[in-house]
Amino acid sequence: MRNNRAARLRTAATALTAVLALGALTACGQDSEGGSKNQDTGDAKGGTIGIAMPTKSSERWIADGDNMVKELKAMGYKTDLQFGDDKVENQVAQIENMISKGHKALVIAAIDGSSLTDVLAKAKEAGVAVIAYDRLIRGTENVDYYATFDNHKVGELQAQYIVDSLKLDEKTGEKFNVELFAGSPDDNNTHFFFEGAMETLKPYLDKGQLTVKSGQTELNQVSTLRWDGGTAQKRMDDLLSKNYTSDDVDAVLSPYDGISIGILSALKSAGYGSGGKALPVVTGQDAELASVKSIIAGEQTQTVYKDTRKLAKQAAQMTDAVLTGGKPEVNDTESYENGVKTVPAYLLDPVSIDKTNYQTLVDEGYYTAGQLK
Ligand code: BGC
Repeated sequence: MRNNRAARLRTAATALTAVLALGALTACGQDSEGGSKNQDTGDAKGGTIGIAMPTKSSERWIADGDNMVKELKAMGYKTDLQFGDDKVENQVAQIENMISKGHKALVIAAIDGSSLTDVLAKAKEAGVAVIAYDRLIRGTENVDYYATFDNHKVGELQAQYIVDSLKLDEKTGEKFNVELFAGSPDDNNTHFFFEGAMETLKPYLDKGQLTVKSGQTELNQVSTLRWDGGTAQKRMDDLLSKNYTSDDVDAVLSPYDGISIGILSALKSAGYGSGGKALPVVTGQDAELASVKSIIAGEQTQTVYKDTRKLAKQAAQMTDAVLTGGKPEVNDTESYENGVKTVPAYLLDPVSIDKTNYQTLVDEGYYTAGQLK
């Protein structure tokens, strides 16, 4: 099933290059009086773009913010980059402020994908274009385009890694224990990651080759508010003490590197990784530096590399196209229904990384060899 879906997306990707003239184009009518009010430097030709990022607590969002500033400045825009410190009310206030400063477009990676309805109604009134960055904004018609990765595929890659590492297709008679973690329930991506992973694991769970000894297999049982590593660590401590006193856990589905590091701490405290007791397979996402080093050191097993430079380039091109009356490039017009509309999207390809191919990150200039030492 999932392969059909992936093939469908790929076909859509090649078939579709152009898109939809949008209500957003009304934003072009607005002129650039916001430009001079901004603190950042740059040629004011295109006016100012507000960039709302969720948090600085994870490297990727800092890089996303920096990359967006770089791309937009190169196109002649000023930028106003704000981080919400993972607090919904901060992000809403920052966006309100951006609208009142007269910014021409907003690029938003939402903290809570469903909490921006009111503020985006104000954006619409002010004729400000809105691009959802990496995370879908839900419950509003006032989101014009969406730039992200194939989020379903991220979950598939994590789960397939577990299937392959445990050699489930060869060792059909052997049984393994797995525990499941998911991301923040208010992030739309969480649902896509978890669904992609569970579709992949389901046949093995159904056949009994994989068992979740805790019995916690529903998203509401396994999610991790705000993607917090400490919260995940506590849950893993609890899972181990309640379910794994006489038996070992063989794999842990983790949706994000910060969560994986928390899970690994709990595992190590329970004696895994020493005294002949192997660490389980632990997946991840984002290729964060600490996790790539952990993979090289043989602790975390896998991560999903999503080149944030490419995402920023795509989102900047979308923003520019909306503001200049062009056609943003999209390759998916079906997957991202936000409760009010299906948001036209551009999906980039995620890549699975483990100790056999982490060199890709150096070859592609994502990290220097020195950073990984
Ligand atoms: C992003 C992931 C990231 C997670 C936590 C998600 O929305 O797609 O790349 O790991 O947020 O920051």
